[in-house]
Amino acid sequence: MYPRVEIDLKKLRKNTEVITGMCHDAGIIVAGVIKVSNGDPDCARVMAEAGCDAIASSRLRQLIPLAKAGFEKRLLLIRIPMLSEVPDLVRYTHASLNSDIDVIRKIDDEAGKQGKVHNIVLMIELGDLREGVFDEEEYIAIAKEAEAMKNVELLGVGTNLGCYGSINPTKEKLEELVAAAEKIEAALGRKLFLISGGGTTSFPRVADGDMPKRINHLRIGEGIMINRDLHELYGYEFKGTYDDVFTLKAEVVEVRMKPSHPIGEIAYDAFRNKPTYVDRGDRKRALVALGKVDYAYIDQITPRGEGVEILGASSDHTILDIEDSPREFHVGDIVEFDMNYAAVALATGTAGMDKMIIPE
Ligand SMILES: *Cc1c(COP(=O)(O)O)cnc(C)c1O
Repeated sequence: MYPRVEIDLKKLRKNTEVITGMCHDAGIIVAGVIKVSNGDPDCARVMAEAGCDAIASSRLRQLIPLAKAGFEKRLLLIRIPMLSEVPDLVRYTHASLNSDIDVIRKIDDEAGKQGKVHNIVLMIELGDLREGVFDEEEYIAIAKEAEAMKNVELLGVGTNLGCYGSINPTKEKLEELVAAAEKIEAALGRKLFLISGGGTTSFPRVADGDMPKRINHLRIGEGIMINRDLHELYGYEFKGTYDDVFTLKAEVVEVRMKPSHPIGEIAYDAFRNKPTYVDRGDRKRALVALGKVDYAYIDQITPRGEGVEILGASSDHTILDIEDSPREFHVGDIVEFDMNYAAVALATGTAGMDKMIIPE
C-alpha cells in the first residue's frame, strides 16, 4: 500500500561498513543510533552485523523489543532516562547516558533489586545547552558518588553537541571533554573506559584525522542511516556510501492543468498560515496522496526526477508542479521522494504509512 517508506538494507549495510570502518581505524567504537527509523529491528540487525559495536536509541520503547528478542549486541539508551522508566531501563538495556544524580541513585537501587549492574556514561555540558553537567565540582561529585555505588558502573563521560545550540564539535571543544574526563579520573584515581564524543556532527573529526586521541566512542545515526547532512551541509564525501537508504513513495490521485494563483479571497491555509502565491499562469500539477502528517515540512522531502517541484501541502495531500517534467504523469503513478532526517523519523513512525524492507 501507499504511501510507504522503503528501506534498502544493502545500502544501509554499506554505509555502516564505511562509517564504522573509519571510526574503528581511528580507535573509536560506534553505537549505531536507530531512533530515526523508529527502532526498526531489521535496521538494528544490519547495523550490528556490519560494524556497530552497540545499538542505541533515545526511546526505551524502541530498545525493549530488541532486548526481548535476544539482541546480540549491547543496547544503550541515549536520552537521559526518565525516573519512571528506570526499572525497564535496567531490565532491558546495558547502559545509558545520564546527568541527574537522583536518576543514577534510582538506577543503583533498581539494579540492586534485579541483581544487575547497569553501566552509565556521565554527560558533560560543553555549551550546546541540552543535557549534561556544566559545573566541574558537580560532575566530580556525581562521578565519586556513582563510583561508590554497588550496582552502577561508571563507564565514562560523554557530551552532546550540534543539537540545541548548534555548536560545532571542533577539536578544541572535544578537548574540553577530555579535560573533564581527566579531572574525573584524577578524582577517582583510575582511568575511564569510555569517552563518548557525540553523534554524526563529531564524525568530521574522524574524517579529518583530528579527533582528540582519548575520544574512543561515538553515537552515530544520521551519518549511517540518512548520510546526507555531512555532504550536503559540510561538503564531505564518503566513498561507497549511499544517501538513499530510505525512499518515500506516494501515489498520484489527480493530474490537471490549473492556475498557479488561488482564486478568491485569501484567508488561512490548513496550518493557520497566510501564505503568498506567485502567479506563473496555468501550470500542470499532480496531486499525491501524502501529506504533512507524514513528513512534517515540505522542505524535508525532495521529489526524485527532473522538473518536479513541491508547491505545497496540507495534512494528507502534496501538490507537485510537473509542468517542466519530461515525464508523463497519470493517476495511479508512483512518485519517489528523498527524505531528510525529520521526514524519515516521522514517516517511519506514523500509522498512516506502510513500511517495506528491501532485503539484501
Ligand atoms: C540522536 C542522538 C545521537 C545521534 O545523532 P545523529 O545525528 O543521528 O548521529 C547521539 N547522541 C544523542 C544523545 C542523541 O540524542
